[in-house]
Formats: sequence, C-alpha cells, structure tokens
Amino acid sequence: MKKIVFESGQDEVKLVSAKNLDDLFDSLVTDIKYCVLADRKVLDMHNSLREQIKNRNFELYEISNPEEEKSIDSYTNIIDFLDSRSFKRSDCIVSLGGGAITDLAGFVSSTYMRGLNYVQIPTSLLAQVDASIGGKTAINYGKIKNFLGTFYNPSLIIISPEFLSTLNEQEYLNGFAEVIKHSLITSENAVDKLIERDEKIKNRDSETLLEIIEESIQIKASIVTEDFTEKGKRKFLNFGHTFAHGIESINLSQPILHGHAVIIGMMMALDYSKHLELIDIDVYEKSMKLLKSFNFDFSNIRLSSDEIIEAMKSDKKNTNTINLVLLKDIGSPYILEETNEERLASFIRNFIEHFEQ
Ligand code: NAD
Repeated sequence: MKKIVFESGQDEVKLVSAKNLDDLFDSLVTDIKYCVLADRKVLDMHNSLREQIKNRNFELYEISNPEEEKSIDSYTNIIDFLDSRSFKRSDCIVSLGGGAITDLAGFVSSTYMRGLNYVQIPTSLLAQVDASIGGKTAINYGKIKNFLGTFYNPSLIIISPEFLSTLNEQEYLNGFAEVIKHSLITSENAVDKLIERDEKIKNRDSETLLEIIEESIQIKASIVTEDFTEKGKRKFLNFGHTFAHGIESINLSQPILHGHAVIIGMMMALDYSKHLELIDIDVYEKSMKLLKSFNFDFSNIRLSSDEIIEAMKSDKKNTNTINLVLLKDIGSPYILEETNEERLASFIRNFIEHFEQ
C-alpha cells in the first residue's frame, strides 16, 4: 500500500491505495465509530464489502439513486440516522461511491455538529480524479444542482482501481475526460505520458490506472492548494466547462454524462483558441487528436447552437462577460473574458454545423 500526503487548501490529505478490495478499510484507525454512506449498486457489485463493513461493526447507510439522493431530504435522513446512533464529532463518516455520494457525504461531514471526521472511498473514475479532490461538497436544491455546499477536506482518501472494473464504458470515459483535461492544462509531458499508455488505459490495466489516477490527483491537488476558494488558478480547471455547461443545460430533460459534454467543450475551446489565433496549429492538432482518440459516444447529445448560445449568455451570473478558459499552448491555459457575444455566437454556429456526432 502506497501512501501520498498532499495539501488541499490548508489541510493535509493522506492518499492510500488498496489494490485488493479486501484491504479497503485497513488504514482506518479502530477506536472511533464509523458510518459508511454507500452506493447500493457498488455494494451489490463488489461482494466482500457488506461483510467487511459488518465484521468491523461499522454502521451502514445505503443509497440507491445517488444523484437523486444528493438532496435536502436525504441529507436530513442521514443526519437523523447519525443522531439516532449517537455519532459525535470525534466519529467518522466514510463515503463509498461515485461523485454524487462523495459530494453528499462531504456536506453531511462538514455540517453535522459543525464537522466530524471524514474519509472518502471514491468508486467511479470521475470521483477518484475529480470530485474527491479540492474539498468542494454539495447537495442539489430543488432543480438547482450543487446549490448548497461547503469547502471541507477529508483526512484520508482510499483509492482502489479495482472498483473501475465494474463501470460501464461510457461511465469510465466520463471520468477520463477530466484526466485528459488535467493533462492538457498542465504540460506536454503529461499529455505524452497519456498517449504512450493509450492501449493500457483502454484495457483498464490496474497498475496503469493507479499511476494515472495518482498523477491526475497530484495535478488537481497542486492547483487547488494554490487557490482553494477559486479566485485565480483554480479557474483553469474550467477548461472547456463554459461550453460544456451550455450543452448540459439544454439536455436537462435527458441528462447526459458531464465528461462527454466536457470533451465537446474542450474541442470548442481549442477551436476557438485557433479561431482567435492564440494557439499554434501543431499544438491544436495534437490536442484535438488526444480528445478524439477515445470512444466517447456523443450520439444522444442534443446540440442546438442557438440554444447553447442563449444558455451561455444566461450563465453569466453577475458579470457582463462570458468567461472562457482557452489554451495558448499545452500547459498554458488562458482566461478570456469574452465581451464580443456576436463573434462567439457565430463561432458556435459554425462549430456545431461541422461537428460529427
Ligand atoms: P455518480 O455518483 O452518480 O455515479 C455515476 C454512476 O456510476 C451511478 O449510477 C453509480 O451508481 C455508478 N457507480 C459508481 N461507482 C461504480 C462502480 N465502481 N461500478 C459500477 N457503477 C458505479 O456520479 P459520478 O459520475 O461519479 O460523479 C458525478 C457527481 O460528482 C455529480 O453529482 C457532480 O456534481 C459531482 N462532482 C463533484 C465535484 C467536486 O469537486 N466536488 C467534481 C466533479 C463532479
């Protein structure tokens, strides 16, 4: 078991890897109470987990529909559950699931009695490389996603690539979009390392996955440590995301996977960087090739340029500009506060017209 300690904001977070799911809880101290908030589907797919939880006398709270249960109702049910079992601040919550449960468990941990101990076991690739890092917690409020939240770090993150064997192909790629993003905003070396391991990634080779997850975590952790509350550099993590949010918000009736919208969003950001002559053509082509080298299925994504433009305009919040993270070079993201809405709108129309789904 390898141990890495990294900073996230002002906190120190320990990361351990468990190659074998039988070792999953070995690094937890034994003299406190634990409540595992777990994705029922993950428990059903990985047989030994319920037994391990029972043998260790941990409390277990099962969640059947993670994104639906990232809600106020479910939050209060969990608080009641913890209270009925007399959990104290010195006790500990363990999240065991994808990003939705990571967000929910983080929100519970940061607010129950003003904060109790928190350990994460992220089980989707997206949760391992993205949602578990950076301390953002959230629940949805009505139809507004992530409306309530806090910044709160776990003390320990336990990563096992074993979990990824049961993710379906598109859920796996969903997380991979963030890995690609991290490499593009970081360095040519990070991109080359991904390209070299392309086959092993596609075959979900366990050791390669662990390396990639650790590298991706280090990238995100170093950015959020410099800028925990997103006033500067952390915004680079939004590369492709302004376009992606526009796409996601016009697909709400049949929600699409975030990572798939992010891949299209990064293609749009690269194309716009080329359009504005910010990026060299060879860098553009290399980056585009990386984005196109995995089998992302975009067939169910509705792309209507006029609606995307409207959605992006209404997402401006309190500013007069549409903020876009573009790329000048691999490893050199650039924030454009776009005021020329007509120029952007005509670019989006042209991109969508030529985009092959
Ligand atoms: P999720 O938790 O809903 O999981 C997606 C699906 O994968 C679910 O059906 C889940 O049951 C299933 N699943 C999870 N692990 C599995 C496994 N090992 N095998 C088989 N199936 C498995 O969502 P997600 O895609 O992991 O993450 C998206 C959520 O994360 C969103 O709610 C998003 O807002 C949040 N998020 C948070 C941050 C952050 O910084 N806090 C960052 C990115 C995303």
